[in-house]
Amino acid sequence: MGAGYPSPRFTTGDGPVSETYIATIGLETHVQLTSHSKLFSSCPSGEAAEPNIHVDPVSFGLPGALPVLNRGVMEGAVRVGLALNCSIADVCSFDRKHYFYPDLPKGYQITQDRQPICRSGLLAVEGESGTFEVRINRIHIEEDAGKTIHDSVRGQSRVDYNRAGTPLIEIVTEPDLGSPEDAVSYLRRLHETVVFLGVTEGDMEAGNFRFDANVSLRPMGASTLGTKVELKNMNSFRFLKRALEYEIQRQGEILDTGGKIVQETRTWDENREVTVSMRSKESAPDYRYLPEPDIPWIQIEFDWVEHLRATQPELAHQKRKRYTRTLGLSDYDAGVLTAERDLAVYFENVLKETSANAQAVSNWITSELLGLLARHSDAPGGRRPTAKEMGVVLNALDRGELSGRMGKAVLEKIVAEGVRAQEAIDALGGVVSGEETLRPIVQEVIRLHPEQVGEFRSGKVKIMGFLMGQVMKLSQGKADPKEATQMLREEMEP
Ligand code: ADP
Ligand code: MG
Repeated sequence: MGAGYPSPRFTTGDGPVSETYIATIGLETHVQLTSHSKLFSSCPSGEAAEPNIHVDPVSFGLPGALPVLNRGVMEGAVRVGLALNCSIADVCSFDRKHYFYPDLPKGYQITQDRQPICRSGLLAVEGESGTFEVRINRIHIEEDAGKTIHDSVRGQSRVDYNRAGTPLIEIVTEPDLGSPEDAVSYLRRLHETVVFLGVTEGDMEAGNFRFDANVSLRPMGASTLGTKVELKNMNSFRFLKRALEYEIQRQGEILDTGGKIVQETRTWDENREVTVSMRSKESAPDYRYLPEPDIPWIQIEFDWVEHLRATQPELAHQKRKRYTRTLGLSDYDAGVLTAERDLAVYFENVLKETSANAQAVSNWITSELLGLLARHSDAPGGRRPTAKEMGVVLNALDRGELSGRMGKAVLEKIVAEGVRAQEAIDALGGVVSGEETLRPIVQEVIRLHPEQVGEFRSGKVKIMGFLMGQVMKLSQGKADPKEATQMLREEMEP
C-alpha cells in the first residue's frame, strides 16, 4: 500500500479501536464450488465414502495427464462476479503456484495470478450500525489441495487426495473493513450471496467457505496503512471475530510500548484463545508463479456473460425486499424465510400451490411448520410436507374446510408420521358445522356453563373466548369457528 492510500471511504467501522489506533481488515475467502467433476478433469468431485477414491491421473499430475477446464466452474465464478458487481475479464489465464507439501500432489497449484476472471467489484453490506460497501479487488479460480490426516496413535501422517483438484474461487477484498463486527457482516452477506446463487453448498463445517483475515493498525490521522498480520484458514464467524479482537488488542499493545508489528501469518488457537505465529515474512514461501502451459488463455464471450447476467437467481436481500414490499410480509418474517435458501424456495413453491394469501402462508410456515419440524426432527417416518401438500392444507383452511386447530393436527400427522396430507385431512372427517351437528354441541356447552353464560348476558363479552374454547374441546377442535360464534350468540340471546 503506497503513501496516501485513501482511507476506506465506505465503511461504518473505520473508526477508532482506541483513542490512538484505527483498525483495517481485508478478507480473502475460499468458496468450494458445487460440481460433479473436478476443476481440470472428469474425475468426480465432492465427498467420497473412503479416502483416495476420487482421484485420477490429472489430480495426481501424472506425466502426460493434461488438465481440461471445467466450464461449469467458469459459470459459477462469473455469476459470483456479477453478484459482486465486478468487471468480468475478456480474457483470463491460469498460473502455477509452487510449494511443497504432501497434500499437493503435483508440487504446484493451478490458480490465476496475472489474469483473474473478475476484478474491481463492490458489495453492499448491512452491518450492525448501517449499510456500508466493501470493494472487491479480485475473484480468481483455483484448485483445492488434498487433506493431510495426522494419526497420533500410530505416529503416522496420511494423505487423502479426494479433495485435490476440487474447484474453488477466492474472493479478495480491498482493506475496507474497520472492525471485527463489519468483517463478520461482510462474510455473512457474502456467504448468503454465494449460497443463493446456487454455486456452493456453503457448508462451513465441511470447509466449503473458509477465509483468511488480514489486519493492521495505524495511528489516528495516519494516511498509510500499518503492517498487516494474516490470520489463516478460519471457517467460523465466531472464531474469526474473537481472533480479530485478540489480534487488534495484541497489535495495539505492541505499538503502545514502542514496538514494531512483524509481518507474519498467524493462526487462532481455539483452546488457548490466542493467535499464534505460523511463519514470518522472512520465511514466507517463494511461490515462483509461472504461466500454466497446459491451459490455453480463455476468451470470455460478451454474449455469454450477458446471458448469465439476465439469468441470475434472485438473491436473499432481493427476496427480502420483494417479500416485504410486494407480498406485504414483515421484515422479521422475510428474514426468517430467507435465512436458508431451501426455505425461501419452499415458501415460494407453496405460494404457487395455494389461494391463501402470502401472510397466511408465511405464518403457517414460520410459526407452525418450522416448530413442528424442530420438535419431530428425529421422528422415524416424519418428513416435511411437499409444497403441493402444504398447498392442499392451506387451501382447505382458506375454504373453511379445516379449522386452525385441525390444520395444525394435519401438519403434525405429516411431520411426525409421514402421513399424506389428503389422508390426514380425510381422517379428521371435515369441520363440524350446521344445525344437526354443531348446534347440539353449542347447546351442550351452554347447559354445562350457566355461570359463564350469565356473565356474558350481564355484558362481560370477553367470556366468549372461554365458551368457544369449550365448543372446540367438545368438537375435538373441528368446530367451524365463525358458525360456532354465531350459534353461541343466538343461544345466549335473552
Ligand atoms: P499479499 O501480497 O501479502 O497477498 P495483498 O495486497 O494481495 O497482500 O492483500 C491481501 C489481502 O490483505 C487483501 O484482502 C488486502 O485487502 C489485505 N490487506 C493488504 N494490506 C493490508 C493492510 N495493511 N492491513 C489490512 N489488510 C491489508
Ligand atoms: Mg496477494
